[in-house]
This record gives sequence, C-alpha cells and structure tokens, in this order.
Amino acid sequence: MPKLKCRCENVIDLSPVPCPNERFLIGSMEMENVFDALDENASSAETILETQTQSVIVCDRCGRFYLSKDDDSNEYAVLVPEAAATNDVTEAID
Ligand SMILES: [Zn+2]
Repeated sequence: MPKLKCRCENVIDLSPVPCPNERFLIGSMEMENVFDALDENASSAETILETQTQSVIVCDRCGRFYLSKDDDSNEYAVLVPEAAATNDVTEAID
C-alpha cells in the first residue's frame, strides 16, 4: 500500500484509485490540444492526458503540494503554502 508521509506528519494513502489527494497539472498548450482532440478523436485526448500531466499529491492537513519528479517516482518537489498573513490573493500585472 503506497503511502506518503507529509512533513506535517500526516500520512496520505496513495492506494485508492482515484486518489482523493491526487491532482494533475497540465500546461495550457497541452490542454488546448486536449480540447482539440475531444472534437476529433477522444482516444487521442486520453493519450495526451496520460502523457502530458504531472501528478501532484496535496496534503489535506497542511496544504503542501508534492509534485512527482517522474512517472512512478517516489521523489517529489515540495511546495509549501505561504503563511496566512502573506497568503492574500495578488492581482496579475497588466
Ligand atoms: Zn501536510
């Protein structure tokens, strides 16, 4: 049973499929390719999603993001939410 122990000590069970703690990142260009493929050939959209997304495990206790470095890798880059006082939404610069 694969599990990930977050740095906050929360243990995340990775075995359920689909996994409630897992998200997927996809680039904007690749997402456009998915939309185009859905209009023409749904199976190619599935292939794009399977090959062009990056798995992200989200800790439901502290909000850390664990970005997998490769498919089937146990190595993650860790992103930590900023403290609440600095976590206000910022506006994009025009
Ligand atoms: Zn955590």
